[in-house]
Order: sequence, then structure tokens, then C-alpha cells
Amino acid sequence: MRTFSLFSSLLAISQLLLLLPSAARGSDTLFKGGTVLSFDNVTESVKVLYNTSVLVSGSQIVSIFPQSQNVTLSPGTEVIPSEGKIMSPGFVDTHRHLWQSAFRTLGSNTSLAEYFFRYSEFTQAGTVFTPDDVYYGQIIGIYESLNAGVTSILDHAHHTWSNATALAGLNASIASGARVWWCYAFHNLTNGYTREDQLADFEYLSQYGPWRNSSTTTLGLAYDPISLDPPPLVQTVVNVAK
Ligand SMILES: [Zn+2]
Repeated sequence: MRTFSLFSSLLAISQLLLLLPSAARGSDTLFKGGTVLSFDNVTESVKVLYNTSVLVSGSQIVSIFPQSQNVTLSPGTEVIPSEGKIMSPGFVDTHRHLWQSAFRTLGSNTSLAEYFFRYSEFTQAGTVFTPDDVYYGQIIGIYESLNAGVTSILDHAHHTWSNATALAGLNASIASGARVWWCYAFHNLTNGYTREDQLADFEYLSQYGPWRNSSTTTLGLAYDPISLDPPPLVQTVVNVAK
């Protein structure tokens, strides 16, 4: 699947389902007696469940039930005391530039205009950052996200100022094991890496890129100058996206 991203186009809401207790199966884990942040489909609002247990079998939640309820567990079920803990669905970050983690702590109190001139792909970053710099910024940003409870990220990947830096960010996304929609950005750069170069690289990665062997990273496309480009070029990009 390719994801067509304009600024932040992916809106994904995950939720815990309230299920009835059921018989446990192999490799089960019981999170016992925590506070569960669930979702009420009727009121469309967060529903807090106190003193609640969550039974996980393999990688799936099979039941959520009051801590006081007696449930027969399968032998070998790992019980994790969860009193005082909060269990919530993983967050979905719909707009991130992971490579820019290298700028962490430098960008506070920065306006959008200042951002473009200081930290964007249109600055000296496009000539100074090596593929390794992009790789480590990318993977550190992903690990930061996981640590904060983000489990899925749409990366507006505008570190695509050369074939090598594009591949570095993609490889870091795959290596992280996180769920990433890595969206190759098309842009008008000044370092000589033309739109034709970008389109050719995207086509190559689309057909032969390492994401094809990944179960967690998906290739997408990000296209900021869609409103500035001449219609024939827009059509070309749209055709590529399809
Ligand atoms: Zn952005």
C-alpha cells in the first residue's frame, strides 16, 4: 500500500475493545488490576476503567474485565501486577520528520519561517548531513516515539535530498521495527538533486526498495508543493503515487 500524504493526511484512531472474558490460550499474559483507557463508541469519548485486568494471548487482547472477576487462566500465564499503572492504546503520530531529531532542543521558540531557514531540508542540512547522520536522527526519533507510547508514525520524510540520504532514513525505519509509513517527500531543492532525480529514486525504491521485505514499514509519498507546481508535473506525481 502506498500512502498519499499531504501535510497530515493519515488519521488513525485505535481503541481497545471491551470484550467478554474468554478462555485463555497459549503464551498468555495477564495485566492485572490496572487503569484502562478505553473508548465508548456510543458517547464517542474516552472511557476510564479502574481496577481492570487485560488478558493478552500472543499479540492480541482477548478480554478486558474487572479485577474482581474470577477468570480461568491457562497454565503458564504470565501475570503482571498493574496496580497504579495506566494501559492505553498506542498513539498514532500522523506527521513527523524523524531525521530532524538531530536538532532536538535547538528548535524551541522557533517560528515556522525561522524553521524553514534554520532546520529544514532547504538549509545547509541538505549538504552537511551525511546518510549516517540521517540514519541516526531517524532511528533515535523512532525510539523516542516508542518510549512516549507512539506505536505508529507517518514520517513526512523530507531528508530526500540524495539517493543515499533517502535510503538511510528508509533503512532506519525498517531497522527500528516500529510501524512506519515512510513518505518520500518531493521538493524543489537547491543542491542539484532535481525533481527528476527524486521521481526516479522514488520509482526505484517503490520497485526494489528494502521496505518490500518489511512487515512494519510501508512506502508512501509526501508532496508539499502540489499547489505550486504546474499541472502536468502534479499529474506526473499523482500517476507515480498510483
Ligand atoms: Zn511538518
